[in-house]
Amino acid sequence: MASAPVLETREHRALRAAVAALGKRYGRPYLTEVVRRGEHPEELWAEAGRLGYLGANIPEEYGGGGGGIAELSIVLEELGAAGSPLLMLVVSPAICATVITRFGTDAQRRHWLPGLASGRLRMAFAITEPDAGSNAHRITTTARRDGGDWILNGRKVFISGADIADAVLVVGRTEDARTGRLKPCLFIVERDTPGFTRQHIPMELAAPEKQFELLLEDVRLPADALVGDEDAGLLQLFAGLNPERIMTAAFAIGLARYALRRAVDYARTRQVWREPIGAHQAIAHPLAASHIEVELARLMTQKAAALYDAGDDTAAGEAANMAKYAAAEAAVRAVDRSVHTLGGNGLASEYGLAPLIAAARVARIAPVSREMILNYVSHQSLGLPKSY
Ligand SMILES: Cc1cc2nc3c(=O)[nH]c(=O)nc-3n(C[C@H](O)[C@H](O)[C@H](O)COP(=O)(O)OP(=O)(O)OC[C@H]3O[C@@H](n4cnc5c(N)ncnc54)[C@H](O)[C@@H]3O)c2cc1C
Repeated sequence: MASAPVLETREHRALRAAVAALGKRYGRPYLTEVVRRGEHPEELWAEAGRLGYLGANIPEEYGGGGGGIAELSIVLEELGAAGSPLLMLVVSPAICATVITRFGTDAQRRHWLPGLASGRLRMAFAITEPDAGSNAHRITTTARRDGGDWILNGRKVFISGADIADAVLVVGRTEDARTGRLKPCLFIVERDTPGFTRQHIPMELAAPEKQFELLLEDVRLPADALVGDEDAGLLQLFAGLNPERIMTAAFAIGLARYALRRAVDYARTRQVWREPIGAHQAIAHPLAASHIEVELARLMTQKAAALYDAGDDTAAGEAANMAKYAAAEAAVRAVDRSVHTLGGNGLASEYGLAPLIAAARVARIAPVSREMILNYVSHQSLGLPKSY
């Protein structure tokens, strides 16, 4: 089940091998125990930070690895393939550090990036609202000026890691003084800011990263809480959302590889007739098909990362959507086939595969659902008319 990263440089392959070795030292038993205790994988997070993996995409001058999303997605995929993905990589370095690097002020960069690179600081990202899930244009979290300050009001749901984040990058809207129309804007809200509270949303997911509802009630922020240009709107937002999609693809690919490896190991040795079950094509072919789908999804992910890192935001947008779609669908199928390969043991706690069913579904729904990607491709790539 070893990957064949034919499009990767020698450095990328070395990074894969090094992260895989780290993942192997922790692996699924470690993550399962962390989840059982209701804790976070702090040891793995700290070690990955010390080794420079958490900030692989952050500029060297701020303590990062000076690479891009290509490198960071390798880190997440390999940790996932070892059974111990760090979901916060999707949010903290991929979205938040990217947005701050590209659009933040010098002071914001100096304040946040070294900590995000080492893992000492963590940032969550909040766009989803109860009445504006797939339709981000409907978000109502609003920022108004009050002298030199901003006052934020709104509600966010499903925000991952808000309990362990030092701050949340909140997508809100400001009112255009001339037209009165609302424009998307990004604010850094530090965790202990008065009026900013959170409530845990119980989820049927065996993951250490929890989801939260966030309430912003007259949250007063200093002028420098705004990241980037008040008028730049969607451009700045998508600078963070494309890396998020590429990283979700890497998460799904890692998960699929982990499930497939477990299934293949089982199918090689489990024997109830003359040959191990893996000799039956009804077992072998679905696993082989999943292996192909995962490799194809990785190719698209590499393309999306390469385009993004080269600064081609428009082409990266289409590729990131396609990569996320392909990887999530590959992961859902790979997990389903893997669980089935183990028969009854596929659902036995001892084997730990059943929780992957829900984990793979996360990649299908978040951060943008399968249907919204199909809509995007229908309209943007194929030029079909819109129904909504
Ligand atoms: C584990 C987890 C972690 C998350 N972490 C974060 C986070 O850290 N930060 C954050 O901001 N958000 C987070 N989210 C939220 C996630 O991004 C949303 O769940 C996702 O965008 C979908 O929104 P929704 O749940 O409101 O679904 P809805 O928008 O209500 O959609 C419901 C269904 O309708 C379909 N649908 C909607 N509109 C259309 C249409 N026009 N055409 C066809 N089908 C349509 C969707 O595809 C979906 O199947 C997380 C979610 C999960 C499950």
